[in-house]
Amino acid sequence: MKKTLVWLRQDLRLLDNPALYHACALNQPTIIIYILDEAIYPLGGAQCWWLHYSLEALQKDLLKKQSKLILKKGIAENILIDLIESENISHVFWNRCYEPLAIERDTHLKQLFTKMGIIIESFNASLLNEPHQIKTKEDSFFKIFTYYWKTCCAHQKIKPLLPIPVLINSADNTTLESDDLPTWDLLPKSPDWSAGLKNHWQPGEAGAKKQLKNFIKSKLIDYANARDFPAKSKTSFLSPHLHFGEISPWQIYHILKQIELENAAMGRSVELYLTQLGWREFSYYLLYHYPKLPEKNFKSRFDNFPWVKSKKLLQAWQKGKTGYPIVDAGMRQLWYSGYMHNRVRMIVASFLTKDLLIDWRVGADWFWDTLVDADLANNSASWQWVAGSGTDASPYFRIFNPTLQGEKFDPNGDYVRRWIPELKKLPNKYIHKPWETPETILNSTSIRLGTDYPLPIIDHCKARQHALELYKKTSNNPL
Ligand code: FAD
Repeated sequence: MKKTLVWLRQDLRLLDNPALYHACALNQPTIIIYILDEAIYPLGGAQCWWLHYSLEALQKDLLKKQSKLILKKGIAENILIDLIESENISHVFWNRCYEPLAIERDTHLKQLFTKMGIIIESFNASLLNEPHQIKTKEDSFFKIFTYYWKTCCAHQKIKPLLPIPVLINSADNTTLESDDLPTWDLLPKSPDWSAGLKNHWQPGEAGAKKQLKNFIKSKLIDYANARDFPAKSKTSFLSPHLHFGEISPWQIYHILKQIELENAAMGRSVELYLTQLGWREFSYYLLYHYPKLPEKNFKSRFDNFPWVKSKKLLQAWQKGKTGYPIVDAGMRQLWYSGYMHNRVRMIVASFLTKDLLIDWRVGADWFWDTLVDADLANNSASWQWVAGSGTDASPYFRIFNPTLQGEKFDPNGDYVRRWIPELKKLPNKYIHKPWETPETILNSTSIRLGTDYPLPIIDHCKARQHALELYKKTSNNPL
C-alpha cells in the first residue's frame, strides 16, 4: 500500500499545520518524521534544550492520537531516500523553511524526488505573507519596513485555520524504527545549566497555547503602553514557540482580530502586536532577498569598519559584568532564562557594537548560542539594524546611552534589581549609575563597588565620541 511522508521541520504542531492536514486528506497511511539535519545550521545550546522538550511533547501528542513521530539524525537527503524506498512512499509533504541553506536543500530535494516519481507538495505554515509575494511597483524588494508592512496589510489574504487532522497509520508505521530522543544528547549534562530555562518555559504546542492564553488574559490590554518596560513583563513570550512552529502566526492573528472586534479598547494593542509580527515577517523577507544577511553587511560601506577584537571586553559583556546595570541585567537574564526583553536586546547590542566596537556578528553568535528563540532571520536582521549596517537600520549616530535608557525604561530599577541582586540596596537615583553613589550611601548599603559589582569597563561619553568619529570615516554620507 502506498504511503505519505510528512517531514516536520519548523512546524512542530498538529493544529493549523498545512503539510500534515493535506497529507492526511489523501486517506492513505501517513508517516511523520523529524530529522535532525546535520547538513544545515547547527542549533545553539539553548535551542537544543528547547528542541528536546518540543519533540518530546509532540511525540506524546501523536501517541494520544495512536500515531508516532519518527526521529532520525543525519543528512536529510540520505534518510529520506532510504525511507521512500523502504516504505513505498508515493507523496512527500512539508511546510516551507526560509533560511538560505534550507531553501537550497529543499529545492534540490524537490527536483530529486520528482525525478524519482514522487509527488512533492510544500506549504506556507509560518508566515502571514511569504517573501516572494510582496514586491515593490518596480518588481524589486522593499528595504524600508513601513512601506513593506503597509503593502502587506493592504494585500493581506486571510487564511482560515486548519483543524487537527485524523491520522491514519499503517501497522508497520508504528513499528518503524525511530531514534531514541535522549540519544541525541540535546540536553546539557556537565554542567547542567538549564535550571533557569525549565523555570521559564514549557516547550511544545500546549505550552504555546498556554502562553498565548496568558498573554491575552493578563497582558494584551497593557501591551501598547507597557511593552517597552522590561520589568513589567507585558510582552507575549511567544518568540521561541513561533520559531519552532508550535503556534502559527495565523492562530495569533485570528484570535487577536476577534478580540479587537469584540472590544475596541484592545485595538491599539492588537495593531501594535500585529506590527511586531510584521517585523518578524520583514526579517524573513530580508533574509530571503538578501541571503547573506547573517554574515555580510547589508550596507557595504561597513565592510572596512575597524572592529575591535578584545576577549576581555567581550567576556565582560557576555557575563553581565560591564558595570552598566541595564546591560548587565539583560545579559544575565539571557544567560539564566534563554531570553531577553526586546528593549534590552537593543541596548546590549548597541553597547557591544558602538561602545565596545565589537563586530555585530560576534554578538549575533552569542545570541545564537544562548537564546531559546534564536532565529536566523530575526537575529541577523536585528543585529544589523542596531549596528547601523542593515537596511532601514537605526542610523549609526543613534548610540544608546545605557544610563539614560535604564532610567527611562526601568525607572524604579526593578528589572536591574531582579537580575543584579548585589545592587538591590542602591537607591533608585543611583541604580543605573552606581559609580556616582556617594561614599556615605555605599557604606550604609555595604556595596563594595569594584569588588561586588564592577566599575564601568568603558566611559560611555568617550566611547560614543570615538564611535561617531569611526562611523563618520566609514560612511559615504558624513554627518
Ligand atoms: P512580543 O513583543 O510579544 O512580540 C510578538 C512577536 O513578534 C515575537 O514573538 C516575535 O516573533 C516578533 N517580534 C517582536 N519584535 C520583533 C523584532 N524587533 N524583530 C523581529 N520580530 C519581532 N527575535 C527572535 O525571535 N529571534 C532572535 O534571534 C532575535 N534576536 C534579536 C537580536 C537583537 C539584537 C534584537 C534587538 C532583537 C532580536 N529579536 C529576535 C527580536 C525581539 O527582541 C524578540 O522577537 C522579542 O523580544 C521576543 O519577545 P516576545 O515574544 O515577548 O515579543
